[in-house]
Amino acid sequence: MASPPTDTGGHQIALLILGGTSEAAALAAQVAAMPDVPALVSLAGRTSAPLPLALPMRVGGFGGATGLAAFLRDSGVKAVVDATHPFAAIMPFNAETACRAAGVNLVALRRPEWAPVAGDRWLDVPDMATAALALGREPKRVLLTIGRQELAAFAAAPQHHYLARMIDEPKAGHGLPDLTVIRARGPFALADEIDLMRSAAIDTVVAKNAGGSATEAKLAAARALGIAVVMVARPAKPGVPVVETVEAAVGWLKDHGILPTERGV
Ligand code: NAP
Repeated sequence: MASPPTDTGGHQIALLILGGTSEAAALAAQVAAMPDVPALVSLAGRTSAPLPLALPMRVGGFGGATGLAAFLRDSGVKAVVDATHPFAAIMPFNAETACRAAGVNLVALRRPEWAPVAGDRWLDVPDMATAALALGREPKRVLLTIGRQELAAFAAAPQHHYLARMIDEPKAGHGLPDLTVIRARGPFALADEIDLMRSAAIDTVVAKNAGGSATEAKLAAARALGIAVVMVARPAKPGVPVVETVEAAVGWLKDHGILPTERGV
């Protein structure tokens, strides 16, 4: 399926979805199935080949909170759904500031965090720099499932072998002397995760606490194999209304008069 055009410059839109997640794509599909809802998905443009979306989309930053507020006013936006990745640290705050300035309703769509269960060997850390330190002095075989943006944090611990899984190639200059890259996009199956960890003799997994089912199998695989997981916590988020599912976001948009209700009001 081809994506719709990448810009709707100048058109009036009722709903802006700040994307980057599978939930944003699922919400876009639900909105697209409803009649007469002018809506747009915005992507930062970090992924070279984003998955197709059911709604029109635009790509690239707005120019901070001020630029986003101007966009909201110019486009007549009535509501924003912040469905950026749980590890997006700036955009949620820009959205909160811009929506407050422009008088636009805002809700964040954030999937619940993963929580450890019996048998897990997790070490919770606040950020990627601490994760690198937490690997210790002895050389380890580490599976990095953190994407490509923060790879360079592990240059501070060059004694380990890193197997890094990511959607796109890492940028040059990450500084990791012993790095193997696997390019793949989830969802991943448990049996495949176990195979990967076994065949690469992984002893530690570094993961971001993204939540969701698409990449959860690595945690079950680590549990099954007794492998340690260094779990990086999510960055701080602004205090805005939060829903945890696409269905709840649809309900919120109906409650706020953005999407039609079953009775057409
Ligand atoms: P970020 O640090 O919160 O945002 C950095 C800048 O990117 C923002 O200030 C904004 O630029 C622009 N931006 C972010 N999201 C945008 C969107 N949906 N539409 C237009 N511009 C956007 O976010 P990030 O960590 O760089 O992530 C960027 C995107 O990749 C997000 O959409 C996120 O959902 C996705 N993503 C992130 C991660 C991750 O781990 N961080 C993982 C997977 C996917 P301006 O200030 O110029 O508007």
